[in-house]
Parts: sequence; C-alpha cells; structure tokens
Amino acid sequence: MTATEQRTVPRRDGNAAPPEHVDVLVVGAGVSGIGAAHHLRERFPERSVVLLDAQDHPGGTWWTHRYPGVRSDSDLFTYGYRFKPWRGPSIAAGGEILDYLDEVIAEDDLAPHIRYRHRVTAASWSTEDRRWTVRVTQLDTGQELELTTGFLLMCQGYYDHAQPHRPQWAGMDRFRGLVVHPQQWPQDLDLTGKRVVVIGSGSTAATIIPAIAGRAAHVTMLQRSPSYFLAPPLTHELAVTLRQLEIPEEWTHEILRRAYTAQFNELARLAHEAPDELHTFLMESMEPLLPEGFDVEKHFTPRYRPWQQRIAIVPEGDLFAALREGTASIVTDTIETFTETGIRVSSGEELEADVVVSATGFDLSVFGDVAFTVDGEEVEFPDRVTWRGLMISGIPNMAYVFGYFRHSWTLRVDLVSDLVIRLMERMQLADATMVVPTLRDEDAGMQLRPWSDPEDFNAGYVMRSQHALFKQGDREPWTHMLEHGAEMEILPKADLEDGSLVYR
Ligand SMILES: Cc1cc2nc3c(=O)[nH]c(=O)nc-3n(C[C@H](O)[C@H](O)[C@H](O)COP(=O)(O)OP(=O)(O)OC[C@H]3O[C@@H](n4cnc5c(N)ncnc54)[C@H](O)[C@@H]3O)c2cc1C
Repeated sequence: MTATEQRTVPRRDGNAAPPEHVDVLVVGAGVSGIGAAHHLRERFPERSVVLLDAQDHPGGTWWTHRYPGVRSDSDLFTYGYRFKPWRGPSIAAGGEILDYLDEVIAEDDLAPHIRYRHRVTAASWSTEDRRWTVRVTQLDTGQELELTTGFLLMCQGYYDHAQPHRPQWAGMDRFRGLVVHPQQWPQDLDLTGKRVVVIGSGSTAATIIPAIAGRAAHVTMLQRSPSYFLAPPLTHELAVTLRQLEIPEEWTHEILRRAYTAQFNELARLAHEAPDELHTFLMESMEPLLPEGFDVEKHFTPRYRPWQQRIAIVPEGDLFAALREGTASIVTDTIETFTETGIRVSSGEELEADVVVSATGFDLSVFGDVAFTVDGEEVEFPDRVTWRGLMISGIPNMAYVFGYFRHSWTLRVDLVSDLVIRLMERMQLADATMVVPTLRDEDAGMQLRPWSDPEDFNAGYVMRSQHALFKQGDREPWTHMLEHGAEMEILPKADLEDGSLVYR
C-alpha cells in the first residue's frame, strides 16, 4: 500500500494507531511544491510523497490572487518549468498559469498525492527516530492530525496567504465605500461606473488599473513613491517566429528560456555595474508611452536603484495607455486621512472613491508559520544560517524551495529540486538517514548578515519582516539571494562533501 492510499490517522490518545509515515512530505502545492513533486516522483518513483496545502485548490499564489487582470510579471518560458513547454504568450494570465499547473498535476498523476485544506502547524524532529512528526489541522473538520516523514520539503512560499498586509490609515472607519484587498478579491465585485482609488505602486496596482479602467468611472493610482516599469510586448517576437515555423514547442520553450535568461542576466549585470545607465534606459523607454507633458519626475522616478526592488512589467504598456486615455490617473502623495467619501492626501486634495483597493502587498511568513523543534528545542530562525538558500543550519532533513525575487521564481524550483535529489542520492549511497547543515571550524566567527541586504533588495515586505528571518553568512555555502546567472553554475556543482553537511 502506498502512503497516499493510507488514511491519515488522527491520534486520539497516546495509544492510538501510529501516525501515517511518508518518505517525503511537501508543504505547499503552489508552483514550488508541484515542481518539486514532479522531480521527486520522477527520480524516486518508489518513495511516497505527500503534499499538504491549506488552500482548497492547487496553485498557491495564483489561486490566492484572483483580482481583475491578475497575470505574471515574468515570462512564462522561464516561469514555466524546464520540463513542460509553455505554449501561450510570454506574459500569462493567472488563470492560464493555474491551467498549466493543472496539466502538470494530470500528466504526472500528482492528484492522489495532494491533500487540500490541511494546514501544517508544527514540525518536530527526533534524532532518535530519525523522523519529523508533523502536526496538521484539517481545516474542514478542525481535526488535528499527525504524520511522520523522513524528509520535510517546505514549499510554503513567502507570504501569509490567509491575511494580507493591511496598513491602517486615519479615518478608515468612517469611509462609507468599500475597501478591498487584491489577495481577498470578492469575485462578484462589479466596478462598473464606480470611482476607484488603488493604493499602491507595484505590479499589483499596475495590473488592476488597466484591467478595470474604462469600466470604472475613473481609476486613481495613489502611490507614496514610484516604481520602475518596463513595457515589453505580450509575446516575444522570437516565439512568434519559431511558432510560425512550426518548430516543436519543446525547442521553442528552451530557446525562449535562454533568450529571456540572457536578457535578465544582462539586466542584473547593468543593475550592479551601471545602475545609472539602467535607470536612464528604463526612464527613456517609458517616457514616449506617457501622456504629453506628464510629470515623469514626480510620478515615475523611483527613490531606489533599479533592481533593489522588482521591476514591474506592464505588457504593451497597458497602464500607460489607460493614463493616455484619461480613464486612469496618478497621484503621488501620502494619505492624510480617509473621509466619508474617499481619501484626503497631504497636499489637501480629496480623492472621491466608491471603492478603495489596498494593493499594499503582503506580510512575510516564515516557513508558513510552522513551529519547528529539533530534539525538543524550539528553533529560533534569527539564530540560524542558511545553507545555499535551501537548508538551515542545525535543522536535519529539511529543505526549502525559495525562488528568485528578481528572476522567475520557478527557475530556482528546478535547480533546488536537483540539489535536493542529489542530496538524497548521496544519503542513500552512504546509508545515511540524517543530514544536518553544520558550521565548520573554519566558519566559526563568520560574519552573519541579514537575510536580505537592504542595499541589494529592499522591498517593503522583506524589510518589515527581516527581524524574524534566518541569516546568511559571508561565504559559500552560507549565502543566498544570488543571481540566477551565478546559481545556475554554482548549484549543480555544489560540493556535498565540504564538511558543511554532516551525514549520520
Ligand atoms: C500577484 C503575484 C504575482 C506574482 N508574479 C510573479 C511573477 O510573475 N514571477 C515570479 O517569479 N514571481 C511572481 N510572484 C511571486 C510568487 O509568489 C512566486 O512566483 C510563486 O508563485 C511562489 O510559489 P510557491 O509555490 O513557492 O509559493 P506560493 O505560491 O505562495 O504557495 C504556497 C502554498 O503553500 C501553502 N502553505 C503555506 N503555509 C502552509 C502551511 N503551514 N500548511 C499548509 N500549506 C501551507 C499555501 O496555502 C500556498 O498554497 C508573484 C506573486 C504574487 C502575489
């Protein structure tokens, strides 16, 4: 009987049936969990793999975010997995990404391995038993379950899916209109003829605005400070050409992955070596798309260097088109107070609104808020160091999949899965049942650095939660947040025998 055919057995008391055991337990069924499960099942078909997800549907981010126009920022050739060709336009709608993930689940027969509405709340490692005991709340029934696993793969993403970041502003309670958050978008919300203010300056605001402009009476983007934008075509011309030539989709996928990777590597290089040049390029490519006489300095000149936060993508410049057409406008100012009928900003201007969309981002969640203990000791993540951005010092048999912020997240899903598989093969060969990242003598006294160096990447959600996150060191293998260009060389060759991993 495979693990997935077994029923999860609740432990009613100390003598109840032992918890179900699985070889690998994956937390999360978003792009990371599904991708990792594909690789694991392909390499180790004999091992039992179970994915648990708190939501009632696969897709993670793409199921949580179903606001108007929701789409990727990344091209889907690199956001798609390396093993499954992307057949659509470069930039995809959220629904298209969900369809793609559904296809992976069907093709790999992953459905029997995924359990929805299962929230993992705690994970306790026992060296004696060489296994994790994982506590789970079955959200439909409220029942508490336990499972045990030999290896825990955390694919929980980086933010709290249940609770969006909700800044509180003065006067909100007297506002008579509706305040909605894109993470909890009411699917029946009709904005026809409504005056809408979208608070935010990032990708989400830039996506919602063109999607509702024209239908709403007017949309105002209210931003405290501007972001960088890039307006690429919806589909890469190379993809159009290759498809016209009826080149096999597998080839097109690989060629486009390389084309986009090269483009992003160049962007990363410019951001590090010539940020002023990149800034000028981004400004100059945007200006012709804006209405004549538009105050670019005020509304579109960020206070940070390009790449210190994600560059927002507006395919075909659709946000700028809404500005040109006058169906949307931008106010760059701070909120003084909500009023009964809208928002007053610091300049004194009143923005009338029926609906306010708070596109203010997320709250970061550390490992899905799972409480970790190792041999009875609570794990305090700020005291720990990452091993290559995929394991944590002192935590045995646990890896996590955390994608890139500035490149396609999924590029790292494939790379990390390969390394986890290599690690499992190494354990199997050595008959080891346990692997723990451990600081070596030469790492003693190593300078510990914050999870994210604000000089390098300083998005609001990261800065708000940095204190709760683990650290990185000043040398390999204790670093992370490297660029994809570097990691695609480093990770496949990462030395598993350099003493930083202790096998037992
Ligand atoms: C609107 C939006 C657009 C984005 N666009 C892009 C883009 O274009 N390119 C890009 O690279 N990145 C983008 N991102 C980042 C995006 O989050 C990642 O690309 C990717 O979707 C993360 O996948 P994941 O599977 O790691 O995590 P998630 O998608 O966050 O999924 C994690 C899953 O784990 C589950 N989970 C978490 N904790 C627990 C727990 N304790 N117990 C059980 N289940 C749990 C959650 O319910 C969720 O379903 C975007 C993010 C957002 C919000």
